[in-house]
Amino acid sequence: MYSGKIVFAQLIDHLPMHTFRHCVARYGGDYRTRKFSCLDQFLCMAFAQLTYRESLRDIEICLRAQPSKLYHMGIRGYVARATLADANERRDWRIYADFAQALIGIARRLYAGEAFGVDLEVFVNTNRGALFHDDYRFDGKPIESRALYHDFRGYVAELLAKALDTTALDDALTPGDKQSLGVFLRGFGDLDKDAIYRGTSRAGYATPPGAGLQAGEPRAPIDLSVLLNANFWSWKMHKLDQFDLQATMLQPVGGMDRIAAAFERRVGDRITYGAEVTQIRRAGDRTRIVYRDRTSGAETAAEADYCICTIPLAVLRDIESDFSEQTTTAISRSLYVESCKLAWQADRRFWEEDSGIYGGISWTERDITQIWYPSSGFHGDKGILIGAYNYSLVAQQFGNRSPTERAEYARESGRRLHPEFENEVSRPISVAWQNMPYARSAWTKWSGIAREKYYPVLTRADGPFYFAGEHVSYLRAWQEGAILSAHHSIAALHERVQG
Ligand SMILES: Cc1cc2nc3c(=O)[nH]c(=O)nc-3n(C[C@H](O)[C@H](O)[C@H](O)COP(=O)(O)OP(=O)(O)OC[C@H]3O[C@@H](n4cnc5c(N)ncnc54)[C@H](O)[C@@H]3O)c2cc1C
Repeated sequence: MYSGKIVFAQLIDHLPMHTFRHCVARYGGDYRTRKFSCLDQFLCMAFAQLTYRESLRDIEICLRAQPSKLYHMGIRGYVARATLADANERRDWRIYADFAQALIGIARRLYAGEAFGVDLEVFVNTNRGALFHDDYRFDGKPIESRALYHDFRGYVAELLAKALDTTALDDALTPGDKQSLGVFLRGFGDLDKDAIYRGTSRAGYATPPGAGLQAGEPRAPIDLSVLLNANFWSWKMHKLDQFDLQATMLQPVGGMDRIAAAFERRVGDRITYGAEVTQIRRAGDRTRIVYRDRTSGAETAAEADYCICTIPLAVLRDIESDFSEQTTTAISRSLYVESCKLAWQADRRFWEEDSGIYGGISWTERDITQIWYPSSGFHGDKGILIGAYNYSLVAQQFGNRSPTERAEYARESGRRLHPEFENEVSRPISVAWQNMPYARSAWTKWSGIAREKYYPVLTRADGPFYFAGEHVSYLRAWQEGAILSAHHSIAALHERVQG
């Protein structure tokens, strides 16, 4: 006969009993208790949970069927339905809530290393082989990004090198600094021995290098005033130097919504789908959220101690609420950015096969603003191309067009960078986020003053209300910002309920 510990006792051995005793003491759970301690109650309920007992009677019958085992399970008190009911009724529930929190904390650490189940791949955005295009510059022909960057670098380096030969920089630089900077500029701009920019192979080739005697012929540099006449330097050239857009970036394989899908896999059973929140109310110290079932139209109210509100501010501002005046003002002081995207299906990856472009962005002064090439599936049969991705006023106007008009314009614009757009792209799909009823904008923007004065209000609790979302972060327009803000609010709430 097996004489070791019974399985239930082995399981319970894993629990931090000192923490349990702290929780009991915190709320005086065993005060004047002699017969049926909090530990007895906990063990009975844990047994019930693990063995799928359905009622107090069921628990009682089961546990009393083998009374000799109770001692080995750690239960010292007398198990009776009335005693259990009494304990469940009278004992402070926070003993078990606190202990559950401690257990969740332990379990979370155990699962910390477990993959979220989202595979990642490189997200290509910077690509010197991609293009810049302006209908009215460079004869309307696209130029390679490498030409724009390296010709600019060459000219700027040459001009600064010339300034080094004058006294203009004498106050700012020591003679030693000037010498070092001169050497740096030669490398930076690929200048010749006289510190003059005469073009560079970095900017690309008129005839590419190859095998045998084909040394390649670098293209002639574009004139500086021609470069300055094009407006790319105002922001498009520098956009991807922004900290949160610098290479190397990663994206989920299959699209950004794989992250939402991974959350759904873990907590989907707790989500109520199709529930449109119509009112956010206070109910004493608690919250009362009224929502409408989008299918049946039925309204329901849910009460809870706390609410973490993740509704985008552009939507939230129009929802009836009992937020404080400070919170309502903060919500109204945020600004919104419009953005549209349009995607094409291509039956041939012509940008790879014909132009040697593998991922990254081509920029144009036309209202599509960007063509973004896929970051994966290179040399596959087909591909999805982003044929427009614009912001703000341009997006507002683009979004006001019908989907058909957007596609016509996007096809014509794409054609100016890649003639293949004429016949080789199809099935356009476009989204104007400002027109989406549950978003009403692409993302939030805080002016300098609003960030300082109003934004902090949303980072704190307003009674039972907490806020989370990309708008409560400094990583605007990223899922990372939304997730970090959720962590921030949950940590604050956790601290509050822990006392
Ligand atoms: C065009 C575009 C491209 C982007 N690209 C990237 C990218 O490549 N990588 C990246 O990390 N981020 C990207 N983002 C940003 C990212 O999508 C957002 O930052 C992130 O989704 C914000 O999360 P959130 O929880 O704050 O808001 P959301 O994801 O908008 O979630 C808010 C939720 O509230 C729901 N809701 C709204 N109103 C109600 C209501 N009345 N009742 C109930 N529910 C409601 C909405 O349906 C939605 O599910 C992009 C955004 C856009 C617009």
